[in-house]
Amino acid sequence: MAKVNHRIMSTSAIKTLLIEDNAGDARLMAETLAEVRDVRFDMKCVGRLSEGLDRLASEEVDVVLLDLFLPDGQGIDTFLRAHRQAPEVPIVVLTGYDDENMAVQAMHEGAQDYLVKGRLDRNLLLRSIRYAMERNQMLERLNQSVRERAAQAAELERSNERLQELDRMKSEFVSVVSHELRTPLTSIRAAISLLGDGCLGKLNEEQKEYIDLVQRNLDRLESLVLDVLNISRIESGRLQIDLLQADLRHLASDVVQMLAPQAKARQCALTAGVPENARFARCDPDKITQVLVNLVGNAIKHNPERIRIGISAARDENRIRVTVSDNGIGIPLEDQPRIFERFYQVRRQSGGGSQGTGLGLAISRGLVEAHGGKLRLASEAGKGTAFSFDLEAVEVQTWEKGRSQTWELEGLTVTAEQYGDRVRLLLCGRIEETNFPRLTRVTQEILERWGNLLVIDLSECLYMDSRGIGHLIELRARAAEHGGDLAIVHVQPRLRKILDSLGISKAIACHSDLTVALGCLRPSNPPQ
Ligand code: ADP
Repeated sequence: MAKVNHRIMSTSAIKTLLIEDNAGDARLMAETLAEVRDVRFDMKCVGRLSEGLDRLASEEVDVVLLDLFLPDGQGIDTFLRAHRQAPEVPIVVLTGYDDENMAVQAMHEGAQDYLVKGRLDRNLLLRSIRYAMERNQMLERLNQSVRERAAQAAELERSNERLQELDRMKSEFVSVVSHELRTPLTSIRAAISLLGDGCLGKLNEEQKEYIDLVQRNLDRLESLVLDVLNISRIESGRLQIDLLQADLRHLASDVVQMLAPQAKARQCALTAGVPENARFARCDPDKITQVLVNLVGNAIKHNPERIRIGISAARDENRIRVTVSDNGIGIPLEDQPRIFERFYQVRRQSGGGSQGTGLGLAISRGLVEAHGGKLRLASEAGKGTAFSFDLEAVEVQTWEKGRSQTWELEGLTVTAEQYGDRVRLLLCGRIEETNFPRLTRVTQEILERWGNLLVIDLSECLYMDSRGIGHLIELRARAAEHGGDLAIVHVQPRLRKILDSLGISKAIACHSDLTVALGCLRPSNPPQ
């Protein structure tokens, strides 16, 4: 195969292949080249295209001078065959006066230059050969760099695909592991609460303290596992969002209640203000609670003591803007662009409280984005921080109060109120083993008489032992027998956790008030 040999500037001879069948023209060409002083030519001449192709295949050639009309090659086809044989060798086409157009066509196909035979002189020939070689060399360099870039792009594409695959495998792994960790944690929690309730024997003060310690650490471990699970779900696009009508007022006050001990420990004033027109939003209450807990928790732990922290909501047409703000130390401007990245933490000399994992804001942003929103930050060093996001506002139907009836059971008052085809059961007092058999009968009666959907309101319920939880499971089963559903509202945070982990309190109910909970219940057999 012929090779390009760049000798334009060098002293070695330029290997020139002349393919020309006219002996006179060939001699003239050889003589013209011989006259050139400062460059030497090593010229081979053949009279047929086939011979020329053979030489191109077997010898090193720097430049080809090609007559387009040969005994075995006519016109542009002559050029195309020679070019195909050795695409890297520059070809100067030789034409007569009459076929300049064909020469131009050959240039479009890749010939480097053309020379009209009758007008040949030494300088013109030398210049043409030199330019042809130079242009070819440049073209070759260009092609080379295009090839290199294409190879680099393909390599990048391959590593990108590999990285994505690894990332997917990592998320999958993390998700499976954290999911698996939750199961034993749930059993530990159930066992510890049985111990804590004294169901397995009365506890002395020291034992209670240890149970408390285990429970606190269990909380922390669970929240870490949940963080990891959430981030892997968000990153792998497997986060599930249950959009419901939620009462932001209850949601915010739940969060205030949940974090009140931490806020108190750091002497922070934590408040929530949700006006009536910004109360009801379409969102996943658990996920939005988690966002608020993260944001408020951050405000408490990353600021000095005695700051003010507020959760607020404001209506803007069909949106509700939820904001968590504080008057703490703020987030420096240079950290703000990266603050939502996972594991990113602000380096501080002093001022903050205990540090976290750096996942909170990444998760919060993912949860807000899963609702179609955006988590925004406004912060100024020394003045404070505000995080905000928008949710879709919903108009909630209010329910007309209907008939009601009250039962007195041992230490427990049960009030049933009918709202259309749904029934709210308000439980006041203590749910204990003694009153439960009667409670079950009453519930059965209500279900048969009034309807198939129940909301159990625990806002007035002072106490529920672990068997009480079992009773709730049974109530749900009874509601289901009637083709109904059961929601539990106003549950205390610790009890809620247990109900959640046992899958009893449906996501809807715990944060919602009665109106919302009723709106969320879905009859499997719509009442006639
Ligand atoms: P973590 O709380 O686990 O450190 P986050 O992702 O929740 O991780 O927060 C990232 C960083 O943002 C925190 O380390 C903290 O420095 C800063 N930050 C977040 N919220 C506030 C706030 N309200 N005031 C001051 N700094 C904050």
